[in-house]
Amino acid sequence: MIALGQVKLVLLGPPGVGKGTQGARVAAHFSAPHISTGAMLREAVDRGTPLGRKAKAIMERGELVPDDVMIGVVAERLAQADARAGFVLDGFPRTVPQAEALDRIARERGHHLDGALLIDAPVETIVARLAGRRTCPRCSRNYHVSMEPPRREGVCDADGAALVQREDDREETIRERLNLYCHKTAPLVAYYRGRHELIEVAGDASPDEVFARIITRLPENGRVPDPARL
Ligand code: AMP
Repeated sequence: MIALGQVKLVLLGPPGVGKGTQGARVAAHFSAPHISTGAMLREAVDRGTPLGRKAKAIMERGELVPDDVMIGVVAERLAQADARAGFVLDGFPRTVPQAEALDRIARERGHHLDGALLIDAPVETIVARLAGRRTCPRCSRNYHVSMEPPRREGVCDADGAALVQREDDREETIRERLNLYCHKTAPLVAYYRGRHELIEVAGDASPDEVFARIITRLPENGRVPDPARL
């Protein structure tokens, strides 16, 4: 059973499959923090921090930030008070060494993952989604020009900021990111499947439908509050 606030999930799936959208919803459903390493890096780039300066060019090329850097970032984030009891990790792990590091971090805290949620979809669906994706630079919420448009064209529903197309959502970079996913991240599917921790959901439907599929696959639907936390 997963009690509110105590879900420990990682999201897997190709870029553009809806991990950001679903990660935010699943996290809200379980009252746990949604930890997106991509969003953390984009914020670091915008603020011009040392991490951001290191990551900027790598991200623009659609490549991966080195494992040791990412492991440090995630270890630090998971040590913060709001993530001690639970988290929905989106975008990490992305390589086998990152998954092994996450296991070590969890072990040190006496945690175990509730599962690795794989959202998958055909390549054509993914390319169409990424090319039409628009993102709010302020709150990181994603839209799609035709599939999930904002109420006012080009403007975030939540905070009114002008939506942007991510540098790495351009066609050349999309191909590089998909290529990297196949080589570096797809092996994690076998990694978690081998441990019977893989939860697979088809992502080729509307955000509401995919969310409904996810929730029915998670134990206790996240609706049972842990009496110890009330
Ligand atoms: P995302 O928003 O998850 O698609 O991440 C955007 C970009 O940030 C990726 O294309 C990578 O360059 C970088 N990134 C995010 N998470 C990781 C990670 N766990 N390992 C390496 N690079 C990452």
